[in-house]
Amino acid sequence: MEFGQGHKTLFFTLFPEPSVCQAVRTFTPTMRNLFFLTLAAASLSAEGYLDTPLIPGTQWHVHDSTRPQPPRADKEKLKCTTTAAPAGAVVLFDGKDAAAEWEADNGAKGVTWEVKEGAMVARKNGIHTKKSFGDITLHTEWRSAEGYDKNEKKKGQGNSNSGIFFLRTYELQVLDCAKTETYADGMTAAIYGQLPPLFNACNPSREWNSYDIEWTAPRFDQDGKVLSKARITVVMNGVKVQDNSEYIGPSSHKVNPPYKKHADKLPIGLQFHGDPVEFRNMWVVEKK
Ligand code: MG
Repeated sequence: MEFGQGHKTLFFTLFPEPSVCQAVRTFTPTMRNLFFLTLAAASLSAEGYLDTPLIPGTQWHVHDSTRPQPPRADKEKLKCTTTAAPAGAVVLFDGKDAAAEWEADNGAKGVTWEVKEGAMVARKNGIHTKKSFGDITLHTEWRSAEGYDKNEKKKGQGNSNSGIFFLRTYELQVLDCAKTETYADGMTAAIYGQLPPLFNACNPSREWNSYDIEWTAPRFDQDGKVLSKARITVVMNGVKVQDNSEYIGPSSHKVNPPYKKHADKLPIGLQFHGDPVEFRNMWVVEKK
């Protein structure tokens, strides 16, 4: 019987002490198989996968259920910033009109997202900006879906899932991980499928969270060769959770596709994943 890298990783995560590892080495083959089988069963209960490709440069599978969760940020440090748009900013949502700057992904006219109490509430399909953007500073505030905090079935990837898609290609995950966990590379403020955040900086469910983002688009030469990868810095609720982190390619589910040349500027997308996640006070400043 063979066991994958994920189970070995889980083992060394759970038992980092060399003495424990040495003890396992003294097991008979039957005992050792039973031991790892137990670990495998334990890992099946965690959301995620162990049969996906390894993420380049890491020991982890895409959405690895055994990848350690980042530490929770000190609650005292968490503060949703509500910075007003500075002069020269493009206001993507002013609390009133979602259709002013956004349109539906499916070609429908206008947007299906509802405006409620100064927030855009995700409905029916994804949306993207009418304007295109390259390198930007972006601010937004978001909060988890109404009623989900009282519904125990809403957990993991199903707990207020959305996402900001830079150039409609590179996702910064939006998810409520205040109470429920998911695979580390798919949690709040993860580069989805690639890199977990440095901290879980979620405010309690239904409280507003802020993202203050510095985004640098990838650069390609004429032949489509990547000259520099996409990069992102994210401060969530005042805590740095991505620090000039690199995207290894476009965002996807269960795979890491390679970079593919695209325009220097493209719209920003907001994901509809079936959950009425709310956004407010969203603006960008374009970098020269
Ligand atoms: Mg998402």
